[in-house]
Amino acid sequence: MELDKIWESALSEIELQISRPNFATWFKSSQLLEKQEGVALISLPNNFSKEWIENRYYKIVLGALRNLDETTKKVNFVVVSQNQKHNLKIRQTEKSKNEEIGQLVFNEFKVNPETNLNPKYTLNSFMVGGSNELAFAACQSVIKEIGTKYNPLFIYGGVGLGKTHLIQAVGNEIERLYKNSVKIKYVSSEKFTNDVIWAIRNKRTETIKEKYRFVDVLIVDDIQFIEGKTATEEEFFHTFNALYESNKQIIISSDRAPKFIPTLQERLKSRFEGGMTADIIYPDYELRCAIVKSKCEEKNISINEEIIDLVAKKMQKSIREIEGVLNKILFYQSRKNESISVKVAEQIITESAQKPLRDINPNQIIKAVADFYEVSLLDILNRSRKKEIAESRQIAMYLLRDILNLSYPYIGKKLGKRDHTTAIYAYEKIAQEINRNQNLNQRVLAIREIINKE
Ligand code: ADP
Ligand code: MG
Repeated sequence: MELDKIWESALSEIELQISRPNFATWFKSSQLLEKQEGVALISLPNNFSKEWIENRYYKIVLGALRNLDETTKKVNFVVVSQNQKHNLKIRQTEKSKNEEIGQLVFNEFKVNPETNLNPKYTLNSFMVGGSNELAFAACQSVIKEIGTKYNPLFIYGGVGLGKTHLIQAVGNEIERLYKNSVKIKYVSSEKFTNDVIWAIRNKRTETIKEKYRFVDVLIVDDIQFIEGKTATEEEFFHTFNALYESNKQIIISSDRAPKFIPTLQERLKSRFEGGMTADIIYPDYELRCAIVKSKCEEKNISINEEIIDLVAKKMQKSIREIEGVLNKILFYQSRKNESISVKVAEQIITESAQKPLRDINPNQIIKAVADFYEVSLLDILNRSRKKEIAESRQIAMYLLRDILNLSYPYIGKKLGKRDHTTAIYAYEKIAQEINRNQNLNQRVLAIREIINKE
């Protein structure tokens, strides 16, 4: 199996174990260069990342690689600058016996330096179902009428549900249709933040204007990360207004709706809500099946219907996790050179579905619930009988039991000094309700995402 594929699978595991901003910062330009005699060699863009990963994530990286191939014993890191990397890729491409595969690998990394868009994200490869059709339709309208129809377009939803794919695909489609007549820029909110920090530090705030105010379409991914960063929010607000007032299209993604980004300035929230907001929720079974099939085609994996069905049935939460499982199946098949059995597929799925091995404490869970509902911690912890507190407290009770398996007396005492029967009642009520009430289910899943990310 190609090194890139192995690393892609390893990354999809690493991603589940560390927070998103960290993952994005430290692993973005990493690459597996070679794997020989149990030693994996990974390239990183600078010394800073190298030190950081060696000190903090060594075990996680080794664990992820070992999960794919138990003969892996050690990981070494080298610094390879972007330039060197470029040359290296070309060499690899030339070396590759199979021109086509080499070319594919090369293409996949060719992010357009002007727009920052990755050409691998296309509308064609984005499968549409009930959970994302509103967002998809809104995107199509924006493509037809840039800047005037839905502005800003705000897409939100949990981790791994396709936000980045969709908003990048919009950028790529606009580029394909309008060629050079429309200037597009894609930026993660971390990158935007870094640019602002750099500009302030170097007293060059005009560079932000130059960079972001002369575009026709600005796509900002994961806006929730700018919350609470005053200077960045300020700068973003001005950029936003300048673009908005001249009818330039703004597309934003976030892991939650504007009103649930607690410390985001009110004026930004109301700007976001003034346009079109569309959510992407968890995919249903049909969509999961369609995605599994299309990813298999993309990756050239042949697996039988029974296993497709199994993956779609069991992997319910994130499309990124579905991809992780498919990568493992691909890896298994290419190593053993035989088709995978249902039993082995089941094993792979069970392993992947396991929670990342981290300590989650009760306070983290309660805080995540409070943040999500925008209620104060004290209200949940005390005896407040306000109605809006009631649901959040019951969900906190449910999650304390479900995730940490804490005793009912403990849960009751912790949340409002209540009797254990209250905790049992809350747990059972929520456990039943989430099967009937799709909205409640989505809320609970979203809170789980927040907990897992912390
Ligand atoms: P998010 O940005 O919401 O966390 P991503 O856009 O990174 O999620 O999606 C995770 C992975 O799942 C990507 O590889 C993406 O291509 C794939 N994916 C998500 N939604 C779809 C879809 N509807 N059809 C095909 N692939 C999808
Ligand atoms: Mg994303």
